[in-house]
Amino acid sequence: MAVDALYRDDFYLSTAEAVVTVVHGDGGIELDRTCFYATSGGQPGDTGFLERADGTKIALGQTKHGATKDIIIHVPLEGQPQPLVGEALTLHIDWARRYKLMRMHTACHLLSVVCSYPITGAAVGEDESRVDFDMGEAIDKDEVTGKLMALVAENHPVTLQWITDAELAANPGIVKSKNVRPPVGLGRVSLVCIGENSSVDSQPCGGTHVSETQEVGAIHIARIEKKGKENRRFRIRFGEPATEA
Ligand SMILES: [Zn+2]
Repeated sequence: MAVDALYRDDFYLSTAEAVVTVVHGDGGIELDRTCFYATSGGQPGDTGFLERADGTKIALGQTKHGATKDIIIHVPLEGQPQPLVGEALTLHIDWARRYKLMRMHTACHLLSVVCSYPITGAAVGEDESRVDFDMGEAIDKDEVTGKLMALVAENHPVTLQWITDAELAANPGIVKSKNVRPPVGLGRVSLVCIGENSSVDSQPCGGTHVSETQEVGAIHIARIEKKGKENRRFRIRFGEPATEA
């Protein structure tokens, strides 16, 4: 059943009220609306809990899409109570974890600005993220860190602009990823725009991001690995480079 994905319009929504629409045989829960982000585009789905009217909690281990992008399944940890269809619940995402993912995800966009090569893969993590680029030449990681931190310090606004799937199809040049599919299939696609009038970057992306680059905080490139002749993997971590052993 199609869900109202509240996080698409408000990345900072950490709690909401919703009604259970489907309970799957394996325990997966669908809701009429949700602030839980479902795994996609290299960003892991949210964890957290659903609170019942009597205060008991249903702890969630992950959130994922169903057969299509407009289905979101909240997956409880083992041994959790099962809600009933029609039951009203209060949703609570693990905000500390999600906020780290938002900061990291935004950092990945900044890295794609500093390294303007085609992206061949990306995975956002709460402690470390990686972005793979189709690039042959070597690049100094401290130089990349310096450029990243300059973009963070400049505190550029990060905003969303919506375009239709058809508009995106007509402008394939705006997609930087070679292997990561843009978030089509819902009729509209969000463009993540960094800087006034996208002066820094714009890229189709369905993930969650912070609203200004300063929120990313201190980050650095921990490692750059050579993956084949034409591929380099960048690992982003939080904190100052000096904290790296
Ligand atoms: Zn993104």
